[in-house]
Formats: sequence, structure tokens, C-alpha cells
Amino acid sequence: MATHQEKKLAQERKHKTTQNESQVQWGRAWEVDWFSLASILFLLMFAPLIVYYFIMSCDQYQCSLTDPLIDLLTGKKHLSDIWNKTPTLTYRAAGIYSLWVAFQVILYMCIPDFCHKFLPGYVGGVQEGAVTPAGVVNKYEINGLQAWIITHVLWFANAYYFHFFSPTIIFDNWIPLLWCANILGYAVSTFAMIKGYCFPTNAKDCKFTGNFFYDYMMGIEFNPRIGRWFDFKLFFNGRPGIVAWTLINLSYAAKQQELYGQVTNSMILVNVLQGIYVLDFFWNEAWYLKTIDICHDHFGWYLGWGDCVWLPYLYTLQGLYLVYHPVQLGTANAVGVLLLGLIGYYIFRVTNHQKDLFRRTNGNCRIWGKKPQYIECSYMSVDGTKYYSKLMTSGFWGWARHFNYTGDLLGSLAYCLACGFAHILPYFYVVYMTVLLTHRCIRDEHRCFSKYGKDWKHYTAAVPYRLLPGVF
Ligand code: NDP
Repeated sequence: MATHQEKKLAQERKHKTTQNESQVQWGRAWEVDWFSLASILFLLMFAPLIVYYFIMSCDQYQCSLTDPLIDLLTGKKHLSDIWNKTPTLTYRAAGIYSLWVAFQVILYMCIPDFCHKFLPGYVGGVQEGAVTPAGVVNKYEINGLQAWIITHVLWFANAYYFHFFSPTIIFDNWIPLLWCANILGYAVSTFAMIKGYCFPTNAKDCKFTGNFFYDYMMGIEFNPRIGRWFDFKLFFNGRPGIVAWTLINLSYAAKQQELYGQVTNSMILVNVLQGIYVLDFFWNEAWYLKTIDICHDHFGWYLGWGDCVWLPYLYTLQGLYLVYHPVQLGTANAVGVLLLGLIGYYIFRVTNHQKDLFRRTNGNCRIWGKKPQYIECSYMSVDGTKYYSKLMTSGFWGWARHFNYTGDLLGSLAYCLACGFAHILPYFYVVYMTVLLTHRCIRDEHRCFSKYGKDWKHYTAAVPYRLLPGVF
């Protein structure tokens, strides 16, 4: 089988440019505007508080987001009352968390992928990422599916056979674990910042804006690594957060069983739909190397802290909510939520697959039974090497420029709808995803425009809408 690099070389006919040719910069910003800086300062200050507020409101206020505020504003409670009732960091939580992260590091570093040897169609083992702005092509050990399977087999073996610990262990230590996740999130982001200054993996792929807060948040190094294989982005993006996602949901389901003697259909729906999403992520981990997180974002607090804290705590709010409010949906509603979730997933997967197929085959494929249409484009890396690429205008990519995000949003809405309408807390996810993905559209398009210039303009003229044809 041809390596990714060979395919890439076939796809992107590479030419050295003449000395005079102007050099286009792409990747994250070199200069910081005041709006970006203000947003970053806001997030650095408030994102940890937002996570705390959500988790605390479930712990102390049955997941009501308004009651804590009302109590504080009416003077019924003081901040210190809420804080004093908050569970503190415990040795037990520190032990669980350290073991968890260490176990994921071992699975990542010490067990080369064997899944690709027996799972037809699965791409694992050593794979190559996209070309970085400095022209580097990194190799990655893709073994996330294997890590997920081993972790979950052990989880079920413990739950049904060994009984070393309760399957509710995550829920029961949820706030103490939050402190541990924060410690790791801050430690890894700070280490990444120091590493960027003192011993970067690839100095040419570092970006310094001169603004401490921006660099801390958005990262300096593009692909920080320890040794040849410990890649910060791949490890922290996928594990421990995304492997934990399904375990956290299972722990919530176990807690429902313990508290109410049954697991509701809404909890099953959340577990199944989010389980599909997580499995899809690991099944397509090699494809993930071509997504924005790996291809374009530098590694800073945004990814480091976000993957350790924001993702496991806020992406799992529906399951947490259902522990406090065990919603049993009527059959029609349950089927409706399931269908919406599956349709969203279908659009998400097919759209991503179409782009992947198109890029892998350099357009020599069939999309919806026809040869795909595309716009030829070119870009340049920092060393002045010129590359050629293609932007597809067929399939879902002809409907809207980010139809994969639309599918993702439909799936997100389904998770929230499973929780009924009694509280707004479980709807945080779809609101957040809408903001994240809309911002991503704008960020990505800004980057694509810097990368492709007038070719990107031709593309946006051919596919005028971003998320919803005719609307946005
Ligand atoms: P995309 O997979 O859409 O990648 C965007 C890149 O694809 C562009 O930068 C460009 O890169 C290339 N591209 C854009 N248009 C075309 C085209 N018409 N033909 C060929 N290539 C094109 O975005 P993401 O990486 O953000 O997202 C990947 C998936 O992950 C999405 O489905 C998203 O919903 C999901 N996601 C989920 C998140 C979550 O938290 N749950 C967070 C973020 C993403 P190039 O420079 O190569 O041309």
C-alpha cells in the first residue's frame, strides 16, 4: 500500500518557486488584534469558572443554572457557602487520575497498533500527517481504537467480574477529579509554553506573537513532542479526554441504576449516540490527522487545558443531568431523538468521508456516482516551496462549505433533546457547539483565504453558503 506521503506527493504536485515569488503565510496568527486578545483574556479567566459553575450547580442545585445565581443575588447564600460545600481534592481522586493518565500513556506509547491487522478498512499503525507550514511531515502511531477497546474491555471486566472498584467511581469522585484535571491541564499548557521557548521540537514551526497571553492560549509550538513518538496534540486531543468520554457516560448510567434501580431510555440514547461519535473518532483517527486541530492549531492552553478539562466535563453534561433528572422518554420522542442523532451522524460522517476520499485519490474517485468537480488551487510553505491542491465542489461539499459541521450540530441537538425541556443545562452542548463551529468556519475560512488567496475566492463563489444552503 502506498504511504500517505506518496499519495500526498501524487496529489500535490510540488514545485520550487522562483526567488521573487511572494511568500504566503498560513497557520495561526502572527499578530494579535484587540478582539482576539479580549476573547483570550476572557476565556483564560472565565472558562475554568464556567466548568466549575456547571458541575457545582448539578452537585448543589440539581443542575439548575439559575438557582445559584438567585441565591447569591438575593443574599440567601454567599460565595463562601457554595465554595465550602464543594468537595476538595482528595488523595483518592489524585490516585485515580494519575493511574488513569499513566495507563493511557502506556497504551499510547508501549502498545503498537494491532487493530489494523485484523479489522478490514481500519487505518492504524504508523501514519503520516499533513505538511506543516515549515514543510515537515510528521509520523504518528495511530492506536487510539486499540486503547479505547482495551480500556473498555477492562472496564466491563471490572464491572461484571472483578469488582475492584464501583462502576460509579467517576461520578462519585467527579469534583475531586475536576481539580486533578485542572492541574494536568495547566501543567501541560505551561510546559508546552516553556518548551516552545527553550527546546522546541521544530523551531521553524513555532509562532511567537510577542503577546504572552495569546501565545499561552493558542500555543507556540505546532507539534510539540517528547522523543520521536509522544505527540502532545494526538495524545491530549484523543486520550485521556475522548477515551474517558464513554467511560464517564457509563459511570452515569451505573449511578442511575444504583439510585433508581433502572437506566432510563434517555440515558441509553445519550450513551449510544455519543458512543457512536467517540468510536467514529477512533475508527477515523488517521483521518483526524488532517483536521484543523492537528493540521493548523498550535498546542497551547486552548488544546491542553481544553482537552483535559473542558471536553470531559462539559461534553458529558447530558449524562450528568440525567443522573439528577432520570428522564424516561415516550416511544415517539425516543425514536425521534434516535433518528435525529443518526441523521446528524450520517451527514457528519459522509461529508468527512467525501473530503477524505477526494483528497486521498486526488479527485480520482466518484462522489454520489459521478466524477467530482473541484477548483484547482496553490499555496506556499515558509521555505518558499509551492504546492498544489484541490477544493471539491461536489457532494455535500457543493451544498455548503462546512456541511460536516451541520451534521455535527444535528447530532449535538439530539443528545440535548434526549434530556427533555425541564432545564437549560443539558442544552449547553448544542449552544457551545454552534458557537465553536461557527467560529471555526470563520477561522478556517480566514486561514484558507490566506493560504489559497484568489483560488479560495473562486471556491466561495462556487459554494456560497457555509452551514445551511440558502441561509448561512
Ligand atoms: P474540516 O474537516 O472541514 O477541515 C477543513 C479543512 O478542509 C480546510 O482547512 C481545508 O484544508 C480543507 N477543505 C475545506 N474545504 C474543502 C473542500 N471543498 N475540498 C477539499 N478540502 C477542503 O474541519 P475540522 O477539521 O474543523 O473538522 C473535522 C470534523 O471534526 C468536523 O466534522 C467537525 O464537525 C468535527 N469537530 C468536532 C469538534 C468537537 O468538539 N466535537 C471540534 C472540532 C471539529 P486544506 O488546508 O487542506 O485545504
